[in-house]
Amino acid sequence: MKNLILIFTLVFINFSLIAQDVNSKKLKITAGWYWPDELKEVSNKVAFAKSLGFNAMIWCSGTQDKEFINACKKNSILPFKIMEPLSKKYGTRLQVLTHEEKTIDQKHTLHQYGGEPAKGKQDILSKKLLCPTDDKIIKNVNDEVKRIIKLGYKGICWDFIGYRNLKSCHCMTCTDKIKLLSKDKPINLAAFYESQLIELYNRLETEIKNIDKKIISACHIHPTYLPNPFYASKIKIDHCAVTCSWFFLPHWKKSKINNHIETTTSFSSGIPMIAYYQSGPMSSHTKSKKQIDFEFKILHKYKKKGLMICELGSIYGQDHLIKKIQKLLK
Ligand SMILES: [Zn+2]
Repeated sequence: MKNLILIFTLVFINFSLIAQDVNSKKLKITAGWYWPDELKEVSNKVAFAKSLGFNAMIWCSGTQDKEFINACKKNSILPFKIMEPLSKKYGTRLQVLTHEEKTIDQKHTLHQYGGEPAKGKQDILSKKLLCPTDDKIIKNVNDEVKRIIKLGYKGICWDFIGYRNLKSCHCMTCTDKIKLLSKDKPINLAAFYESQLIELYNRLETEIKNIDKKIISACHIHPTYLPNPFYASKIKIDHCAVTCSWFFLPHWKKSKINNHIETTTSFSSGIPMIAYYQSGPMSSHTKSKKQIDFEFKILHKYKKKGLMICELGSIYGQDHLIKKIQKLLK
């Protein structure tokens, strides 16, 4: 019994030390959804993240929480849980698209699944999302946050907070609000829709810190908000990842990646999010060695600012990419 208590205490101290590290040196965080056969065991997945040099990992699966948290303790990695506050399960009022938006082809070959659309293309996210003003979200998310903290998670990472059409929502509540606000003079619609996202993030931050002031908040801005992909600079959050190079073809050009990393790291919570599908079900989107090389050349300039990389399972077995990550994070 004595041994058990000792082990628990040591683990607890360990987590506190990593939390300090994360707060002072920024978060190096990774996430994964697709897992190769070699990494069936949860402990192998976490050990792989550790071997790359990450100090935190986001669990995107709906099961095996305990195994994940235990593996994180063993590897001195901070466990984060992904949460999607605009998921249908947290409310009732779905975002509404215009008639024209409903006719946009959601499966064209250059579709970016919520990332910035390819040049000349219009994208609609096929996943249904709640309007960020749905007043049921906060209470339902809070209940889930309490459950997650009880399980032993040290951080929460928000995902899928945004608009399906990447700019607006046409539900009755949004429409009525705009009517009321523009009664006397026209309003700036881009600023209006941006403020709804900022308000939701800021409320979530206040609520989760009221539940547990030590919980670490993070997010990945996704889907992107086209009128201002960097609105994240205005939200209250500990670590905010902004996409600086996306998964899918056409892969982003050097100048665009450079600009996105520079802008993201210019605000205190900002961390670049770099995406890879090197294998698995989306292997046709594999980035070339040349592409990887210049992405990491830029990242090295900003290495102290932190980093989020996704998707972890696709990195497994990719020696060139693994070496680049290890060198960057050491
Ligand atoms: Zn709405």
